[in-house]
Amino acid sequence: MKKYDLAIIGGGISGLSAALILSAGIKDNENLKDKKICVIDAGGSDALKAEFFNAPGVKQGTSGKKAIQKLVDQVQSYGKAKIHNGRITEIVKGEDSFIIKTKKGKEYSASSLLLATGFRSWDIAGLELPLKRFTRTTNDSRVAIEHTEYKVSDNIYVCGLLADVSSHYPIVAGTGAQAAINIMYDWTGEWIVIHDK
Ligand SMILES: Cc1cc2nc3c(=O)[nH]c(=O)nc-3n(C[C@H](O)[C@H](O)[C@H](O)COP(=O)(O)OP(=O)(O)OC[C@H]3O[C@@H](n4cnc5c(N)ncnc54)[C@H](O)[C@@H]3O)c2cc1C
Repeated sequence: MKKYDLAIIGGGISGLSAALILSAGIKDNENLKDKKICVIDAGGSDALKAEFFNAPGVKQGTSGKKAIQKLVDQVQSYGKAKIHNGRITEIVKGEDSFIIKTKKGKEYSASSLLLATGFRSWDIAGLELPLKRFTRTTNDSRVAIEHTEYKVSDNIYVCGLLADVSSHYPIVAGTGAQAAINIMYDWTGEWIVIHDK
């Protein structure tokens, strides 16, 4: 079974943004260089239905599919985050790690989780989470998770729509980036700032 320090569950805009900042941190920081991270994604980001005109820095008219592919390419350029395809159906908390199970029977182990599955539903069995109604729409069916500064409980973090923020590319991307910085703080005790130049 593959073992990671952090598994990001969901590789949409927020999960990939978190993977990008974590990859940059792992590349740049001696104290992080041994950290192993992955993204596990079912391939159904809301962004795939979008065409972006108002996302800062994204060329106007970019299809959601292209925007996601660009983020994947950016993450992969660092070579620090493994991206797995798969739908997670269950996560079991062990003594010092989580066992993450996919619909097709694959298993991964991770010491920490970053939940980034969007607001459509929470249908992963096994974890006890403070679920609540997503507040930034009138649609009652959306879900979110209570958190403080993107931390849900020991070794469990949340970002993106599941963290109950408004549904816009820069906003969810920012939550992924902030969750990533907070996770690196918890790992090192330092606020990591990654400015490439
Ligand atoms: C039609 C449409 C148009 C939009 N237009 C705009 C726009 O013009 N400008 C703008 O800024 N925003 C726009 N948005 C909003 C933007 O796309 C979302 O805010 C953003 O995609 C949310 O990011 P997220 O990471 O929270 O969730 P998502 O991007 O939805 O990512 C969640 C990921 O988690 C994965 N996942 C879920 N469950 C599991 C599981 N059990 N196992 C593994 N993976 C799982 C999904 O497959 C998905 O890839 C639009 C959205 C839609 C639907």
